[in-house]
This record gives sequence, C-alpha cells and structure tokens, in this order.
Amino acid sequence: MNIHVIMKRTFDTEEKIVIENGAINESGAAFIINPYDEYAIEEAIQLKEHHGGQVTVVTVGDQESEKELRTALAMGADKAVLINTQEDLEEGDEYTTAVILAEFFKKNAFDIILGGNVAIDGGSGQVGPRLAELLDVPCVTMITKLGIHEKTAVIEHDIEGDIETVEVSLPLLVTAQQGLNEPRYPSLPGIMKAKKKPLEELEFDDLALEKEDVKTKTITIDMYLPPKKEAGKILNGELEDQVIELVNLLHNEAKVI
Ligand SMILES: Cc1cc2nc3c(=O)[nH]c(=O)nc-3n(C[C@H](O)[C@H](O)[C@H](O)COP(=O)(O)OP(=O)(O)OC[C@H]3O[C@@H](n4cnc5c(N)ncnc54)[C@H](O)[C@@H]3O)c2cc1C
Repeated sequence: MNIHVIMKRTFDTEEKIVIENGAINESGAAFIINPYDEYAIEEAIQLKEHHGGQVTVVTVGDQESEKELRTALAMGADKAVLINTQEDLEEGDEYTTAVILAEFFKKNAFDIILGGNVAIDGGSGQVGPRLAELLDVPCVTMITKLGIHEKTAVIEHDIEGDIETVEVSLPLLVTAQQGLNEPRYPSLPGIMKAKKKPLEELEFDDLALEKEDVKTKTITIDMYLPPKKEAGKILNGELEDQVIELVNLLHNEAKVI
C-alpha cells in the first residue's frame, strides 16, 4: 500500500508566543509536528504494519522542517519529502500549500493520503479538503477509526456531537481527529535508523508550476493577541435588581444585546 502523510511544522501553542510588527517572532518560538499530524503519522505506520507498503511524509516548508521530518522517520515512516519554498516564494496560504501538494501527488501515486484535521497555528482546516478536491479523490475529515479492506475504506468520523460511519473507495484523503490512536514516541533505535532513511528535497522550480499558479487568495491584514481577560463582576442585592443591572450591563457595557 502506498501511504502518504502531509505534515506541517507548527510553533508550539503551549509555549509563550510573541507578536512583533504584526507577525509571530519565530526566533523565540518552539517548533513541533502539528499534533493532529502525529495521529496521521501513527495511523499511516499502523496501516503499513497491517497491509505492508511504504509510508512517505511530505512537508511544504523550509530547511528547518527537516527536524520534524526526521522525527516522523524516527517514529517509523520510510521516506520524507521536503518541498522547500524558502528561496522561491515569499508568501503562501492554504491555497498555495494545497496547489503545491497537488502538483507533487500528480506525479507520485498514492492509495491513501493522511493529514491532520487542523493545524494548531493557522487553524483553517483547509489544506486536506482543498487537496482532495484538486486531486479529485474522496475526502473524509476528522476521522476517529479507519479500516481498509482491499480497495475500500470503512471510516468513523466526528460529526458535531455524533459519529458517522462511511464507506469510501481508494484512493482517498483523510484528516485525523484526536482519539484516532495513541501516537508512539520515537525509540532510540528508531532515531538512529532515521538518520539513514531517505529525505528528498524538492524546490518550487522542480514542480511544473509558475508563481502565478500559487498566488495567495488571502491577505493577512493584522495579527494581534486577544485582549487580557478582565476580572468578573459579581452582582449583589435582590434578584430582581440583579436582573435589571445585568440587562443594563449587557446592553451598555458589553453591548451584546
Ligand atoms: C510559501 C509559503 C509561505 C508561507 N508564509 C507564511 C507566513 O509568513 N506566515 C504564516 O503564518 N503562514 C505562512 N504560510 C503557511 C500558510 O499560510 C498556512 O498556514 C498553511 O498553508 C496551512 O494552513 P493552516 O495552517 O490553516 O493549516 P490547516 O489547513 O489547518 O492544516 C490541516 C492539515 O493540512 C496539512 N498541512 C497544512 N500545511 C501543510 C504544509 N505546509 N505541508 C504539508 N502539509 C500541510 C497537515 O496535515 C495539517 O494538519 C506559508 C505557506 C507557504 C506555502
């Protein structure tokens, strides 16, 4: 089975994030594999363990992404591909990333592509579904269980407050939700082996794309941290008076009614 994972390197939102001149100051940020992509990598490795085949992890990023790709190799992936856009593209959005990945997959056969449900930094959850659309394959998002029998997949996925079971044909793209599995930690032998596993690097020029083809569809106008939460107010007195004051506050201060 030809298994691919699309993986994003993200900054760790558990760490302190500093915004300077309308952008995140990356020099102080800690970087990790997007946590939802860890579920995708684990599921890909389990698929290989059950069905045989090869797991390839693909990232659109820069040289720094090599570290996270090596971690994926240490977990058990067989091959990594870095599509390095650092030199050729100054900006990109979900559209850019999806078009670049689609171009890669047009030349690289796959039975299944696994991604994360959402990236914890950008948080749009768009790359997976956009890529599936461009490749014209079925897409199931937020999956919590995956079973493959020959050319058919039976999948459970989250639908607000419930679980839906769907049957789809391969090739397909799925995005992983928390609960799909328990991602393994890279073992010491895994880390040693990862150093010798293939990590292919492609540049934008290696793809049959022009810069115009990947021009962003969105513009970031401003970026700021949410305002600090103010202390709550406790209303006292008769219940009727409290209700009047609450309505007054919601109307005049919070301006929500
Ligand atoms: C050339 C270029 C420059 C960029 N510059 C900036 C910048 O200056 N600032 C900034 O904040 N962002 C930048 N980005 C990132 C971009 O704006 C989006 O953050 C990114 O395309 C994905 O959107 P998202 O984070 O909302 O991911 P989501 O759509 O929420 O991600 C869902 C899933 O899609 C997959 N995925 C997402 N991104 C990638 C990827 N890069 N490679 C492989 N798989 C992926 C993963 O499986 C992930 O779990 C740049 C992207 C490119 C290509």
